[in-house]
Amino acid sequence: MRLVLLGPPGAGKGTQARALGELWKIPQVASGDLLRAAVREGTELGREAARYMDRGQLVPDDLVLKLIAERLSQPDAKAGFILDGFPRNVAQAETLAKMLEQTGSKLDKIVAVIVPDEEIVKRISGRRTCKGCAAMYHTTFEPPKKAGVCDKCGGELYQREDDAEATVRERLKVYAEATRPLLNHYGRLGMLSKINGVGRTDEVEKRILNAVGAKARVND
Ligand code: ADP
Ligand code: ADP
Ligand code: ZN
Repeated sequence: MRLVLLGPPGAGKGTQARALGELWKIPQVASGDLLRAAVREGTELGREAARYMDRGQLVPDDLVLKLIAERLSQPDAKAGFILDGFPRNVAQAETLAKMLEQTGSKLDKIVAVIVPDEEIVKRISGRRTCKGCAAMYHTTFEPPKKAGVCDKCGGELYQREDDAEATVRERLKVYAEATRPLLNHYGRLGMLSKINGVGRTDEVEKRILNAVGAKARVND
């Protein structure tokens, strides 16, 4: 399965990509996670990217494409992957298609997760991310068993700096201008399904599985 999850910041792409990656035993490839790792490592690419991320703007395509190309060429991505947060504009989508074509593969499906703006603001303001394994929590909707501590790895949970309200507004604007046109792009290619992203995470997961024509988890 080569799947792209599209949607505004806070739509639940990361949450769903992680669950589906575990279900299908393929990696979740999140451009935001790759960028944040580069920032933490203090690489030149990371230092350059941080200037854009701090302001809620898109990192230049060449930097993001370099990280994605590297990640998709790893052996574990050969059998498939779930892209989360990439592509984010039409130019990235076109480069991705060419990149895959060179290896004789292509995307199977694009699923757009639709969530209204007022719900997004609630989700992002309560979002907490694990420093250890990048797992996602929410102070109200998906609280960890112990406040501030990751259930999965015991890592420390933190609030992303770009989840501050002013930056979120900028990111929503960037989504509307640069990323939303991708819905038409993939729609024209007949590759897109839109699903409702409001509801429990397991309900949303079932809608995605339906949209890609895959079976739900056993015992579900
Ligand atoms: P969210 O899903 O909440 O929008 P991400 O982790 O996907 O957050 O992205 C965080 C930031 O990283 C973005 O605001 C942007 O600056 C940068 N970024 C992530 N993916 C891309 C991409 N494909 N192209 C350009 N910038 C990106
Ligand atoms: P994205 O990757 O699209 O930016 P996340 O997966 O990080 O979105 O989700 C944003 C926030 O919303 C997180 O705090 C997450 O725990 C929470 N969340 C995810 N899915 C749901 C859902 N179906 N209902 C309520 N909250 C959710
Ligand atoms: Zn963790």
